[in-house]
Amino acid sequence: MKLTDEHRSMLRQLWRHGAQSRSDLHGLMGVVPNRVGAAAAAMVQAGLLRECEAQPSGGGRPRVPLEIDPEQRHMVGLTIWPGMVGVARVNLRGGLVGKPVARMVSEDSDRLVEAAAGLLAKTINEKTMGVGVSIPGFIDPGSGRILSGVFVSAHDSLSLAPVIQRAGGLPVVIENDMHALAARWSLTHRAPAEQDVLLVNIADGALGAAVLIGGQPNRGCVSSANELGHMRYFVETDTCYCGQVGCLERVFSSEYLSRLDGADGVEAGALMVRLSRYRPGDEAVDVLLDYLSNGIANVANFIRPHRLVLVSELTRYPEASDVLTASIRRRLLGELVGRVRVDLWEQPVAHLAETAGWLALAGLYCEGWV
Ligand SMILES: [Zn+2]
Repeated sequence: MKLTDEHRSMLRQLWRHGAQSRSDLHGLMGVVPNRVGAAAAAMVQAGLLRECEAQPSGGGRPRVPLEIDPEQRHMVGLTIWPGMVGVARVNLRGGLVGKPVARMVSEDSDRLVEAAAGLLAKTINEKTMGVGVSIPGFIDPGSGRILSGVFVSAHDSLSLAPVIQRAGGLPVVIENDMHALAARWSLTHRAPAEQDVLLVNIADGALGAAVLIGGQPNRGCVSSANELGHMRYFVETDTCYCGQVGCLERVFSSEYLSRLDGADGVEAGALMVRLSRYRPGDEAVDVLLDYLSNGIANVANFIRPHRLVLVSELTRYPEASDVLTASIRRRLLGELVGRVRVDLWEQPVAHLAETAGWLALAGLYCEGWV
């Protein structure tokens, strides 16, 4: 079905507030009751909404609340990652439908896009409402091309046309994987659309960020994550894949930790192990947390978000995450300290196809994503 502005408005209210009667929706949407009735009937018919059990009202006809139907329709999430493509279906409330499918593909960029398009074609059916595609690196959404990033050399770009073509006219949201993660956080936390969100994904040697302004991704001149990981310090680190030295994501890494420890080799995953056992006084870890909190606080001071969301395995280790959040707060400007809300979110894998499915849901429930 082709969704009208009224359909979208009703879906947004039901997402935000849960089940509502037609008369409540009339109040929330500010449109006349028979328009509410017509829009509701069309969406029940199309399998987007369903009627809940009737509830007694104080005399007169019982109220029949409407809710988003999690059983009929779905979104498809597609993720393209170096050497891997994945696909998943999520229902209209974000629940996984069936099992996600992942395929290993050679890192040849054209083969990746072909494999992604093939997987998408097998997953879409007549119940699909939309598609979300999440990709690391830079994307030009206007032309549907992946720009230089982890897939293509600096002077090249890669067309997503085969993927868009296989979507067969369904709405397609193509975004960087950090924006997909921000969409998922925003929808699952029923965050008010008018609030600005700074989401920071913290992993060993990989930092990503996304900024939502008024509920919409910060577009900039090109679509990407907000490149917090390449904020540079005058620090001798390994060379970053961006070609520079001193990038924050090279500082917050097992490699730099072992450098500070004076160790001979680098143990993969050593940083998170150390953070899991962290006690104040672990000087090398304190240095890493200091740089990280400084970078995040600088960005927060610059953007003045309502919510700062830290996404990381680190949130499982309260000793370390307390030091990090306290250190960020100490570096916020006085006027911001009481206003920026800091949330921790344990959602460790950014590039899941399921998260790309939430991107498609953002296209349905939020303005400015499609
Ligand atoms: Zn870098």
